[in-house]
Amino acid sequence: MTNTLTTADIAQLFRALASTIAAARDELCRLDGVIGDADHGIAMEQGFTAASKAVDALPAEATFADQLNAAAKGFLNAVGASSGPLYATAFMRAAKVAGARNEMPLDEAPSLIVAMAEGIRSRGKAEVGEKTMVDVWSPASKAAEEGMTDKLSVSDTMARVTEAAKAGAESTKSMIASKGRSARLGERSLGHMDPGAASAAMVLDVIANEWSKT
Ligand code: ADP
Ligand code: MG
Repeated sequence: MTNTLTTADIAQLFRALASTIAAARDELCRLDGVIGDADHGIAMEQGFTAASKAVDALPAEATFADQLNAAAKGFLNAVGASSGPLYATAFMRAAKVAGARNEMPLDEAPSLIVAMAEGIRSRGKAEVGEKTMVDVWSPASKAAEEGMTDKLSVSDTMARVTEAAKAGAESTKSMIASKGRSARLGERSLGHMDPGAASAAMVLDVIANEWSKT
């Protein structure tokens, strides 16, 4: 990838997300089976497949905003589970930041992660420590912001983002869920990774790989 992020890169990113999440479907369902209703892998696979199809169906002149809003709509329509509106809101926030452009400087790209995290937090109203995907998106967003402030290269910033995301997903193992379906388990949720946190770390890993390609 050059120093520019294009709409072709975003379309490629959604294809990569759809394929990685599809490959992780059973693992995510297994995690959700322990503390939820075992559908998280299916929800995420259907969501990202629909999002990627919606992006690929757009005309070549579509802007980032068109792509990310189409992805939001596709994801939301495909997913009945709670991850549906959370990721749809994330994409809509990213659409606002990316705007009606066809390309942007690559070093602005981490701001899309900040926007997605903000969307997920404002939609789900979960805070760090409640054993949700926010425990991944929030530290990842912080790492993205810090990388931009410190003017790190995008690949260095994204390396920090994935590290923060992985640590965030791990940290949910020692948390008691207080938001979402697993909250009713109380202490029985202890010791298990939150499925939404696990998939969020995978999503961020794919984004980092795509944006670190040279
Ligand atoms: P459902 O719980 O409706 O079956 P999924 O299985 O697709 O939905 O997703 C479950 C994940 O959603 C949880 O593991 C958690 O990470 C995330 N989640 C649930 N509620 C919230 C919330 N209010 N804010 C952020 N994330 C949440
Ligand atoms: Mg579920």
